[in-house]
Amino acid sequence: MIGPPSAVAEVVAEHAVKAWVAGFGVPVPRGVVAASADEVEAAAAGLRPPLVVKAFWPGLVHKSDVGAVRLGCTSATAAADAATELGRLSPTGYLVEEQAPPGVELVVGAISDATFGPTILLGLGGIWAEALDDTVLRLAPITRQDAEEMIDGLRGRPLLDGGRGRPAIDRDALVRLLLAVGGPGGLALAPEMAEFELNPVIASPDGVIAVDARLLRAPAVPAQRTAVARTDFGPLFAPRGVAVVGASVKAPNFGNMFLEFYRAAGFGSRLVAVHPTATSVDGVPAVPSLADVPASVDYALVAVPAARCADVVGAARGPAFVQVMSGGFSEDGETALEADLLAAARRARVRLLGPNCMGVYSPRGGQTFLGTDPGRPGRIAVLTQSGGVAGEIITVGERRGLTFSKVATLGNSLDVTVAELLAYLAGDPETASVGLYLENPRDGRGLFEALRAVRDVLPVVALIGGRSRQGARAAASHTGAMVSDDRIWRALAAQAGIALVSTQDDLLGALDFLDQHHGRRSAPSADVLVVGPSGGAGVLAADCFDRAGLRLAPVPTEAQAVLRAAGLGAGTTLTNPLEITVGPRARPDLVYDVVCQIDEVQPYPDVVAHVNAQSFVSFGTSMKPLLAYVAAVADLQRARPFRVSLVLRNAECGPARIEDEARAIARTAGVPLYRTFDAAASAIAAGKRLLT
Ligand code: ADP
Ligand code: MG
Repeated sequence: MIGPPSAVAEVVAEHAVKAWVAGFGVPVPRGVVAASADEVEAAAAGLRPPLVVKAFWPGLVHKSDVGAVRLGCTSATAAADAATELGRLSPTGYLVEEQAPPGVELVVGAISDATFGPTILLGLGGIWAEALDDTVLRLAPITRQDAEEMIDGLRGRPLLDGGRGRPAIDRDALVRLLLAVGGPGGLALAPEMAEFELNPVIASPDGVIAVDARLLRAPAVPAQRTAVARTDFGPLFAPRGVAVVGASVKAPNFGNMFLEFYRAAGFGSRLVAVHPTATSVDGVPAVPSLADVPASVDYALVAVPAARCADVVGAARGPAFVQVMSGGFSEDGETALEADLLAAARRARVRLLGPNCMGVYSPRGGQTFLGTDPGRPGRIAVLTQSGGVAGEIITVGERRGLTFSKVATLGNSLDVTVAELLAYLAGDPETASVGLYLENPRDGRGLFEALRAVRDVLPVVALIGGRSRQGARAAASHTGAMVSDDRIWRALAAQAGIALVSTQDDLLGALDFLDQHHGRRSAPSADVLVVGPSGGAGVLAADCFDRAGLRLAPVPTEAQAVLRAAGLGAGTTLTNPLEITVGPRARPDLVYDVVCQIDEVQPYPDVVAHVNAQSFVSFGTSMKPLLAYVAAVADLQRARPFRVSLVLRNAECGPARIEDEARAIARTAGVPLYRTFDAAASAIAAGKRLLT
């Protein structure tokens, strides 16, 4: 989230900011300052016209809005005349500077975001950048490659590349300026920087120059996180014993529900209840406090009212991990209660999950927060800030055949963070990919660094809730208003090499793709081969894949010739999307032969085979040919190294179990099944980003 700058920010005078940025290597116009209009002519004598005169006074921000800027003064005398006229504004001084030749106006800004820290912005249009809404963000420090990607990420980039009789701008100079602002040691990292803007930067074939510079200086806010020792999260996911605090002997509540869950999960004698007076709860032996639990209890679940949580946690002696289910903390404005809870956890030397979260799920370790039988253990890990979303991901995912290694819900992430668990999962031999559902990671900078650290070992797909929320900074200031939450997440994804998805269904689809195709890495390429019956569906597929940034690279003519020589072609289209016949009269393994023959001539990293259940019912045919097609698609995956995805459309038109049957056949070969082209396109795009 883009948080507001510190409340008391000080506006620094333009000439002082320009001197400061020049020290970092940002080109600025030559200029002088005069205290009164009388002094302007002499002061400006050494400058080369045309000249610009800007009147200033303390607190002035938008000079043009109040008529304080005069351009095009042809001499020092003309500049003095302009200053005299500007005298009616009663300024405290005048900045006179050389006027830069025209070019493309850009904005380069930096803010210190409350969650993610120093962040830089490049936008097209100078003062019109907000209206044009063409901006790209990156978290500082940026690399040269980040700077290049920022420039390439502008929709209006052709304006910078030249054409139509206009020369290209000096791109190298712009890269250097971006690095001076946001690179290692750049001014965006300076501690006094609250908010900073060069607007405009004029870019031309001869270089770039910052003709306006604004700095809001704020007192540095000290870092609030206290370092904690590196934790082995193994026992969190496979506790030897579990304690539940808060189950009642009178009216069953969440605590009683969890006692039942853990009993069902086989904890039996390794389960203990914590109750102030009772000696047993629901038949589970009880002790009065977390100080009294057996040494084998690694994990305690706390479900008591928020106001009592700190006392309960503070008493803990033994459990390494305490999960606080209760809500009613910072999410309800109760920040003091939350601070007490953290202090209590530190005192008791426990690591705390939550508050305001559901718990942990791990089929291998028996951990659960669902009242269902644990699923089969798998390789997918999920970290979420919503217990509800976690429950849906597990339940719906397992219904679709996904299998999980470890799922943790973090709620308010007061102590244990997503960043810490990511680092742990990167070293976990049971985990091969991670899905995230985040709303507001407390330590955005830590998350960014953790994601970057794991990028080569752990593919990460993230669903972010609240990406469209604006307004936190709308009133804060100019640059703030130009920054939206969504852009900072896109910056983080680009820099940390993760895939962003926009729906829960797409998160499941991408995780399924990563898991099924685990180990099937390919060279970077946007190419897909689409094959299936029905030309119309193929065209719609092409549209979906296009939207997802994938490319239906044409089938080479040599491959088409081979296919024709093999007798294909009648009733088929030999392009991409490739139309082939599927049905009772078609050869069931046609899809296998066609794709293999193309693969001999030109390999595609991803192949999408689609089929429509409705077409098998309309004409009264059985589902056998459909399942034979799916079996051929599975064989194709077994035979070849490319990644196959199956799209089974309109399954609701077929018999009740048709999707399950098709999915079961596909999964034997590691082929994920999608219900729509859009779902497949989103998953393949994520897979291409992460499995290269
Ligand atoms: P404001 O406070 O209104 O943003 P600026 O200093 O940006 O004031 O000046 C307003 C406009 O005048 C700029 O957007 C730019 O187009 C032009 N301008 C200002 N200074 C110069 C300069 N030194 N060379 C060329 N153009 C300039
Ligand atoms: Mg300006």
